Amino acid sequence: MNYGQIRKYDIANGNGIRTTVFVTGCTHHCFNCFNGEYQDPNNGKPWTDKETQQVLQYVSDDNVAGLTLLGGEPFQNIDGLLPLVRAVRKAQPEKDIWVYSGYTLDAILKDPKKKELLEECDILVDGLYVEELRDPALRFRGSKNQRIIDIKKTLSSGDVVIAME
Ligand code: SF4
Repeated sequence: MNYGQIRKYDIANGNGIRTTVFVTGCTHHCFNCFNGEYQDPNNGKPWTDKETQQVLQYVSDDNVAGLTLLGGEPFQNIDGLLPLVRAVRKAQPEKDIWVYSGYTLDAILKDPKKKELLEECDILVDGLYVEELRDPALRFRGSKNQRIIDIKKTLSSGDVVIAME
């Protein structure tokens, strides 16, 4: 897995101050993608144990509410991200994990491997970025089709539970 950047403090990608990890590699190719340089999986730097330790240290900061995974496409980097989210869960069980994806919730649930990563996270922001549905007033997402989904409540109830509008 390659990554483009790690931010210790980020307020744009989820609730509160968050540590964010931008992986590279995304085949969705949304028009006007907000991070076009992260579509190429060869961009960025290889993820190593040093980066995992750095993220664990960042998330342990009292100011940090949790971890957010974005990119690129996290669900095209599952093997690299699963050990990271499990390590964060173990070290900081009270902090939450958000994950962004160009895939819809339905598409993720149909793929056991993608579902495995989903189940390790608390909030999913799903769907492609659609330029025609862009709305700058939206919180934590770019276009109106994207949803902020409470993963645990959705999986336990069987209905999509929106965490915030
Ligand atoms: S899913 Fe995200 S990273 Fe991938 S092309 Fe669309 S906006 Fe860009």
